[in-house]
Formats: sequence, C-alpha cells, structure tokens
Amino acid sequence: MNNLPFIDFHTHKPPPPGVTAVVSLFPSDPVPARTYFSAGIHPWYVQTQAEEWDRLVEKISHPLCLAVGECGMDRMPRFRQTLALQEEIFKRQIDLSAETGKPLVIHCVRCYDRLLRLLPSSGPPKIIHGFTKGPELAERLTERDDIYLSFGPALLREKSKAAESFRILPPERILLETDASEIPVRRIYEAAASLRGTTVENIKRIMAENFSRIFKKSVFSPKS
Ligand SMILES: [Zn+2]
Repeated sequence: MNNLPFIDFHTHKPPPPGVTAVVSLFPSDPVPARTYFSAGIHPWYVQTQAEEWDRLVEKISHPLCLAVGECGMDRMPRFRQTLALQEEIFKRQIDLSAETGKPLVIHCVRCYDRLLRLLPSSGPPKIIHGFTKGPELAERLTERDDIYLSFGPALLREKSKAAESFRILPPERILLETDASEIPVRRIYEAAASLRGTTVENIKRIMAENFSRIFKKSVFSPKS
C-alpha cells in the first residue's frame, strides 16, 4: 500500500496527477473526464440553480458521481433573505441522496442546530465540508456515526479551532480537502500529519480507508 494517492474529498478544480479528487460541480457544469465528482445546488445560488433540478438529477445518476452536493444552508447576513428557499432546496437534495444511496456533501454556516434536525439518522453518509469549528461542536456532530468532518486550509493555522478539532477526532471521521484554495493537497496532508503526530503516509492510509468505506469505490482516479 505504498502508492496510495492523495485524496482530495472536496475541490472545485480538476485534480493534478497522483491526486484522487471529488470535484464539486453545479448542475449545469460539464462533467470532467477521468475524475470522480459530486453535484449539487449550492445555498449561495439557490435562486438561479433551483431551476436546474432536472440537470442535477441527471448528473447524480452518472457512474462517476459519488455524492450529492455541495448543498446545505448559510446564515451569513447576505444570504439570509433566501433561507426559506435554501432549506427547501436542501431538503430535496437530502431526499435525492436517500433515493440514490449517494452520500451528501454539506455546506453549513451558522446553521448546525437546524442541520442536525434536518438530517435523517439513517441512510447514506453525510460529509460536512470545510469544517472550521472547535472540538465541542465536532464531538456533538460525530456522536452520530453517519457524519464525517472534512478539513481544509484552516489546518495550516496550528492554533485554529479546526486544528484543535482535527487533533482529537477519531481517524475514521476525518477527511481532507482543498475546496476553492490554490494550496496543493500535499500541504494539507503535511499539516494534518504534524497535527496528529504521524506521517503523511499514515494520513494517506486513513484517508484511503475512509474513502473506501464512504464511497465503496477504488481510491485511484477513474480511467474515463
Ligand atoms: Zn466548496
């Protein structure tokens, strides 16, 4: 198992060689070649993307589509006026995940109580992407055995709340991602290894095990 790839669980860019990624697409984006992807209606764009529901359903049925999302809710002041619509569209995507058996990739800002009430306690795994909060919330979320927390560039700041959470969570609940940043995924893995006092190879092994358990697919990028 020496040649395990770096796995980027959530990104908006095509992966470089040696990286297996789940590229996050909007419903109308073209399907990229030779990579896994997810597709969803993002809470920031519900007003325009709600009309693209049929295109979303079509993308989710693609064999290389691993997950529904990113989707979710965002209570930042500039998105507050769409909260009711955000919730409606999010619920439809939760149902789509249950119907297709594909996991959810969730964007959640200042909505965790609501999120925990909306998520069904059974069904496909739920990945909360870009997690930046502290251990108290991290532990509360991972009390449920279907919730995974995905960490990104916040890990590069050793004193961040994200770093604090990342250190204490069980290995089978942590994922790594680059999201929209230009930071190479290797740097996120190096930060992860140093925070947990282990090697990059060991972090790769943990990520490969988590990827296989969540998606039930090969950890190597698909050929076509
Ligand atoms: Zn994202």
